[in-house]
Amino acid sequence: RGTTPVPPDARPRLTVLSGPSGVGKSTVVAHMRKKHPEVWLSVSATTRKPRPGEQHGVHYFFVSDEEMDKLIANGELLEWAEFAGNRYGTPRAPVMERLEAGVPVLLEIDLQGARQVREAMPESRLVFLAPPSWEELVRRLTGRGTEPPEVIERRLQAAKVELAAEPEFDETLVNTSVEDVARELLALMGVERS
Ligand code: 5GP
Repeated sequence: RGTTPVPPDARPRLTVLSGPSGVGKSTVVAHMRKKHPEVWLSVSATTRKPRPGEQHGVHYFFVSDEEMDKLIANGELLEWAEFAGNRYGTPRAPVMERLEAGVPVLLEIDLQGARQVREAMPESRLVFLAPPSWEELVRRLTGRGTEPPEVIERRLQAAKVELAAEPEFDETLVNTSVEDVARELLALMGVERS
């Protein structure tokens, strides 16, 4: 499409948004998608089944176990992780293409994935989304209402471990309101508000 590649030092840094399950990462991301199309959000591949309203190619690429095996074996993922019994991964090529073209890229991934991105691309910016409190996180995870109790329990266990990882991140944003977090994230990414 005739985009001129930007010189390496002018390339935007890859931004990674991570944090415990249920903290509201996907709500922030949905808000950004609607209001700030100039930020490109990576679409992950996952072996998880779609939740009501989730669309293939928009929220995730929903793949089979075999397809996920292939993506991993072929080195097509920038990072991947198993989370609560499903696998999730970031397709590498689309991310690299956007960055080469000077487009700011945002990944919304779990902590294990954030660590892998740090290894693969040390220049990336790791942002931790923290809940206002533990009680609030429990409330959000329990209140989603789309998952059986044992799945919620697994996610709470994961969240406890994930909260302890905050010091590994470059920045912490506290999710008090979706609008505020989105604004702070855009400012970190150097994206002008339109
Ligand atoms: P959910 O099933 O609620 O959509 O996502 C579960 C967890 O997987 C969330 O913490 C989400 O950020 C994470 N996740 C989504 N996509 C990816 C990905 O491509 N890689 C990694 N490592 N985690 C992901």
